Formats: sequence, structure tokens, C-alpha cells
Amino acid sequence: MASAALYEKPDAGILVCWMEAILENLTEAVTVADKKGRIILRNRTAREMTLSDDLEGSVLEQCPVTLRYLDGSLVPKEDYPLPRILRGEPVQRAEFVLVRRDGTTRIAQFSGTVISQNQTNDFIVVTCIDVTDMRRYREAQQDYVRAVSHDLRNPLAALLAQAQVLELESKRKGMFDETRAAQVILSNGRRINAMLDDFIESLRLDAGLGRLRPGRTDLRALVSDVADRYRTVSGGDRLRVVLPDEPCWAVIDSDRIQRCVENLLGNAFQYSPSGTPVTLSLEVRNGSADIIVTDCGQGIAPEHLPRIFDRFYRADSTYGRGLGLGLYIVKMTADAHGGTISVESAEGKGSTFTLSLPLS
Ligand code: ADP
Repeated sequence: MASAALYEKPDAGILVCWMEAILENLTEAVTVADKKGRIILRNRTAREMTLSDDLEGSVLEQCPVTLRYLDGSLVPKEDYPLPRILRGEPVQRAEFVLVRRDGTTRIAQFSGTVISQNQTNDFIVVTCIDVTDMRRYREAQQDYVRAVSHDLRNPLAALLAQAQVLELESKRKGMFDETRAAQVILSNGRRINAMLDDFIESLRLDAGLGRLRPGRTDLRALVSDVADRYRTVSGGDRLRVVLPDEPCWAVIDSDRIQRCVENLLGNAFQYSPSGTPVTLSLEVRNGSADIIVTDCGQGIAPEHLPRIFDRFYRADSTYGRGLGLGLYIVKMTADAHGGTISVESAEGKGSTFTLSLPLS
């Protein structure tokens, strides 16, 4: 039958030809060496990346490339990927600047392993990916984050400070219209500030600048602090807080988790009518701490729920104040902590968001 013919195993000669063709056409550079570090074979990408054709049989010292660390300092020959693998050290995604014989450079990411067949036939495979363009793109993204954070934040901070002075002064002099105008500038400026915070944080997370700064933190105190801040804003008396009797210690990035709780609470207040309760609670169960925010607001339609944590996603574009980044930041932060964020919602009845963080 035709299907049986398809599964006929090709003979060893054909298999070798296929393997050679696959190896030759990989976009990853592959170098195979013996246990003494002598190069046995290299594929086309490896030859192109090192600008050299004829290295088979040579040892590392004869390779016409030099490696530098990303800060520009020279890598000692004994710390090149091949000798390290020969010594049994793991090499995984190690990045170096590869300086070629014509002086041009590439940023290369090396990984490698010893393939053990039997003691005498062991060989070493080193793979290398050219990450120059990816790194340049990442650096441009990081410059962009720095520019946005400084160049936009500073004038806005000055504007808000001046508006605050105007508000106080006009209030003191009993100038009603001017006070009102200053308050409008202040509230809109703060809105832009909040959007900017979300925007910068999401850019930082995307650019890989959002590394966590974990520390031992009492989640009960953290949740209680956020709640205290909300009680002082208008409508803050809607907030009910349910906390455990004992402190709840977890290793977390407290600034980031605080920001997540603020985002969830901010949404709960924003998307529910004044006068309805918003509940913030902390529950410890099954080795995790759950921070739960419940509102009795408009809820979220089922068709929006699967995308609610996507970047820039807004369920109702005509209503609200944000950029659709708050829940995306919560999701990224929960993931980075090995936790989860989930939502249950019923239209017209309200929503419950649960941020679960592992306690171990
Ligand atoms: P935004 O800054 O627009 O609020 P978020 O990422 O925080 O962005 O939320 C994304 C969208 O999810 C919101 O635009 C809103 O439509 C919906 N949403 C978030 N929280 C709630 C909530 N508690 N109740 C109803 N809808 C919500």
C-alpha cells in the first residue's frame, strides 16, 4: 500500500546525505570537535560566521577569530566555549563579541554539549547564533524606554507642581474659577502621569529591563498599606478589607506587587458605580497567597475575558481612563513571580480578580 511505502526506512547512506544537507542548511552555526578539541566538521553558517573555510583538523588556537566579553575585554583562550565544554562546564547561551580576521564583529550566542557514545567516541558539539540584530533592536528599545521615562516625566512633574501652587493660591484668595481650572489641570495631569507609568512599565517589561528585586515581605502589611491609601481618595469609604490574623511572609518584589494591587483596585473603583462596595482580601491557602479584588460593577462580557490581560486591550473603548496596560502589567508581574492572575465576571453583576503568589 502507498502508506506502507512512505514509512520504508531509508538506508544508512541516504540518511547520512540527508543529515549533511540539513546540517549544511541550518541558520545556526554548528561546529563538531573531538575530545582533544580538534575540529572535525563545521556547517556553512559556521564557515560564514568565522569567514574561514579550511579549519577541519585544526585546534582552537588556529581559529582566525577572537572572542571579547560584551564590555570589550578579551576572553582568555581557556574560557572560550570549546575548552569550557571539554572541561565539563555547562555552556548555555553565553554571549560574546566575535572579532573576525577582517576586523568586523558579530555578537554571538554559544551553547554546547558533549555527546557521549562510549568513552572513546565522545565528541563535542558547539552551536552559535548570530544575535547582533536582536541585541541592537533590544538596545534601541532600552534607549527608547529611557528617553520616554525622562523626557516626558520631568516636564509633567514641573507642570503638576505649578498647577498645585496655582490651586492653593487661588483657593487662598477665594478665586473660584481659577481654583477650578487648576484642579482640572491637576486631575488631567495625574491621569497622564498614571498612563505614562503604565506605558513605561510595560516598555520596561518588554525590553527585559523589568528584573525583579525580590525581598521577604509581609503581604498582609502590603495589602493593608494599599488599602489605607485608597481610603483617603474620593469614594474610598466603599472599600472593605478582609485580612488574615497572622502576617503572611512571601519573597516578592514588593513595589511591583503593590502596583498590581493598585491596578486591580483602581479598576474595581473605576468600573463600578459609586455607592457599591469594593472588597480587597488576602487569603492563604495551599501554599499560595491570594489577593482578591471584588467589585459589584458592570462586569466583563464573556467574549472579552480571554483577551483582558493582553497588551493595550480594552473591553469598552469608550469608557474608562487607561491605555489597556494595567492588567497586562499585572499578568507579566504574576508570571515573573511564578504566580497567576485570574478573573471571574458576570455582566451587570461584577468581577473578581485573584492574584495568586507562591509562598515557597
Ligand atoms: P485600563 O487602563 O483601560 O483600565 P486594564 O488593562 O487595567 O486597562 O484593563 C483592561 C480592560 O479590562 C479595561 O479597559 C476594562 O474594559 C476591563 N476591566 C478591567 N477591570 C475591570 C473591572 N473590574 N470591571 C469591568 N471591566 C474591567
